[in-house]
Amino acid sequence: MPVFANALAQLKQAVDHSHLHPEVAARLKAPERILQFSFPVTMDDGTVRLFDGYRVQYSSARGPYKGGIRFHPKTNLDEVKSLAFWMAIKCAVVGIPLGGGKGGVTVDPKKLSKGELERLTRAFARRLAPFIGPEQDVPAPDVNTTPEIMAWLADEYARIVGKQVPGVVTGKPLSAGGSQGRVPATAQGGMYVLHELLAKLKLKPQALTVAVQGMGNVGGIFAQLAHQAGMKVVAMSDSASAIYNPKGFDVTAVEHYKKEFGNLKGFPSARSINNAQLLELPVTVLVPAALENQITGTNAGRIKAKIVFEMANGPTTPEADAKLAKRGITVVPDVLANAGGVTVSYFEIVQNLSQYYWDEGEVMEKLKLIMVTAFKHTWQRAEQLKIPLRTAAYVVALERIGQAIEVKGKY
Ligand code: NAD
Repeated sequence: MPVFANALAQLKQAVDHSHLHPEVAARLKAPERILQFSFPVTMDDGTVRLFDGYRVQYSSARGPYKGGIRFHPKTNLDEVKSLAFWMAIKCAVVGIPLGGGKGGVTVDPKKLSKGELERLTRAFARRLAPFIGPEQDVPAPDVNTTPEIMAWLADEYARIVGKQVPGVVTGKPLSAGGSQGRVPATAQGGMYVLHELLAKLKLKPQALTVAVQGMGNVGGIFAQLAHQAGMKVVAMSDSASAIYNPKGFDVTAVEHYKKEFGNLKGFPSARSINNAQLLELPVTVLVPAALENQITGTNAGRIKAKIVFEMANGPTTPEADAKLAKRGITVVPDVLANAGGVTVSYFEIVQNLSQYYWDEGEVMEKLKLIMVTAFKHTWQRAEQLKIPLRTAAYVVALERIGQAIEVKGKY
């Protein structure tokens, strides 16, 4: 299912509710630059394989391009373009001085040895090098890319330019210039937003049941934090398996089981379900935290959650959005819910450039302020214009991007 068409449909809805100049709106319908690479990597057996890689630099209106790099067998240009667009909106929603970009390589990293993965990352870094930098474009982790992969990227870049430039990429390990709090930042940022929403809806965390799709960096940590906050996490999944227990899970035990057995099949006292069933469970909060296009026109009518909390990027199609809104289901959009990751990435760049590092308490305090403020602005705009939270978040973002474009002159 094409994703960029969904992104453009979301843009159009928000443009209809904003006072954006049509010429400025037109600028956001296409990326500023698309980079596409075909590059060779030597495999362990001596053969050479060609891989396709992409970097889309969508908007630099508010600052250097910013966004993750994804390694996935289904990654393609359409997907990367959409993710880059959402980054531009997201950075504007939380008001950090960055634009939007995204990258990806079409590869199944689970089928590569560690050496092959490192050579692929370094080869991709060599292609990206002329186009990235702290003042140009700053990659970060996304699906299947880790702090270690970010360290390889930064190291390859340093070799090319002949000096250390830690701010060229974020999400690095602490020992390679990373920021405290970057690993849990996306999930923690989401949790700050969820608590604000619960206060508005007069719901207590202890009264919630939660289903989380995906248990990687984002979903796994979000489930942990939800459990710690007293919510009942009743369903969890990865790409191969899903489990359900209406009484709730000890999330740490589920994580340990996944580490030991590779997936969730056979987890004690749980019903084995599939990812499609997980989405349709009778829970208070459904948290898609895996990939795009999970809630569509086909299954939106069967979603029973009261709140869809988008920790993944692009999990809900515009057709599904309309159906959920009609049924009174609150959707907290990706560009707000999962913006904690890029916010702490911004802190990481600031720390790298100033060579002064903050403790975790300071990072979290600053993150909370930004996330809570972004929620308040979005909520206010939704109430004022009587529009869903997604459109409201886009309206907030478009005003900021529009101002940045107009103040510089349009040409
Ligand atoms: P990850 O690679 O750490 O984890 C992805 C998880 O999703 C894994 O548990 C995998 O098994 C699962 N998964 C994959 N396909 C699935 C499927 N079809 N059904 C169910 N589960 C599936 O990736 P991540 O960093 O946790 O990213 C997850 C989502 O969050 C993506 O949409 C990403 O763009 C978004 N996101 C990530 C960050 C970040 O800081 N890492 C920030 C903002 C948004």
